[in-house]
Amino acid sequence: MTGKVELGFVEKAECPEELTSPYFPSKVGGRPAWLDPTHLPTSEQTACRVCGLPRTFLLQVYAPLEDTPSAFHRTFFLFMCLNPSCHQKNSAHGFSVFRCQLPKTNSFYEDSGEESSGDESASIGSESTGATSEPRVDIFSTQTCFSPSQPEAVDGSTAVSESLKQGPSTVVAEPTPLCVVCGSAGPKKCSRCRTVHYCSRHHQTLDWRNGHKLFCSDLAGGRCKQQDVTYDPSYRVCLPEFLLVMEEEPAAAMEEEEGVDRGEEDRMRDYHKFVKSGKYHDHDASRSGKKRVESVMEKAESGTMSDKVFRAFRRRVSFEPEQVIRYRRGGVPLLVSRDGAPQAADIPPCLCGAKRQFEFQVMPQLLYYLKLDTVSEASVDWGTVLIYTCSTSCFSTGCCVEFAWKQDFSASK
Ligand SMILES: [Zn+2]
Ligand SMILES: [Zn+2]
Ligand SMILES: [Zn+2]
Ligand SMILES: [Zn+2]
Repeated sequence: MTGKVELGFVEKAECPEELTSPYFPSKVGGRPAWLDPTHLPTSEQTACRVCGLPRTFLLQVYAPLEDTPSAFHRTFFLFMCLNPSCHQKNSAHGFSVFRCQLPKTNSFYEDSGEESSGDESASIGSESTGATSEPRVDIFSTQTCFSPSQPEAVDGSTAVSESLKQGPSTVVAEPTPLCVVCGSAGPKKCSRCRTVHYCSRHHQTLDWRNGHKLFCSDLAGGRCKQQDVTYDPSYRVCLPEFLLVMEEEPAAAMEEEEGVDRGEEDRMRDYHKFVKSGKYHDHDASRSGKKRVESVMEKAESGTMSDKVFRAFRRRVSFEPEQVIRYRRGGVPLLVSRDGAPQAADIPPCLCGAKRQFEFQVMPQLLYYLKLDTVSEASVDWGTVLIYTCSTSCFSTGCCVEFAWKQDFSASK
């Protein structure tokens, strides 16, 4: 295993399909692109334990493990409550993270026969490298996002006999109905039209006010379909949507970790020179975007100059200031402060009994892209969100709950 860290950057998707399940995307915002459409986290699991409202989908990271057959496909789904008062400083409150896996042969995606190659880090990328990162257009053309890979026969009986011939890999599974608002599991139905599903009463009420009331009776009478409604049910619930593109951290930043010890002053001068030079990562960010990313860091810096850990954080990040994810399974997280890191006792073992280890972290720059840095002082924020996962990546049908920890910037002046 190499010591390389993979960095995630946001990009606007070139076509919407890139963000859908058959492409195994890593993505931010919008609705989750579920890996196993029949086993989603329940609405109880995604509800905030403090306020009881549905948590908002924050991001997903596709991170298959090539040496673990049951994790040939493997995706993490991270949710958080957008209500700032539900979050405590330096805690696991307010976030939930789920791990979902599928073997190479499964009921939902065609087994394309290609072996993934290269090291583990190559396969978490979505653009730069590796067979698994190519969009599987062949899959997409033969099935829709949430339908099992059944042969689409006009005559239903043919489909059934085909599936019997093909054996257990084509077991027909009913996809879980999705909440029309947020895209999570939607066990509740509108009681009038019985055509749309909701995760919770809260989203049903929102959708009613937002526009469903204008269409409900038409939907009920079959005079229109959900596809025909002319408003966006996800409006103001889902966060801005982006593709997450993974790339290796540049070697220069790694050397920084080795700690060639120059004075703090020098490093900060270099950093500011770097910022002025505009030599940022070239991903899609406008000039003002770069400025805003910078301002997130400036804000954090103002209260924390005395914190050596923060300064090390900032130096490391300065090589790629727009990174929003750092991925390194079994690695060491880049902490934002000397305070508030989780202690070993804070990180519970997996339900299977195995220890959890660090896998990836969400960086504060993401707040800018999600426009969460602008919503007055009363908005959700974080220094970093650390994700710890089962060290054996145990398989169970459905989603495994993993562990997320929010570390805040130190408030010391
Ligand atoms: Zn809450
Ligand atoms: Zn919902
Ligand atoms: Zn209705
Ligand atoms: Zn486990």
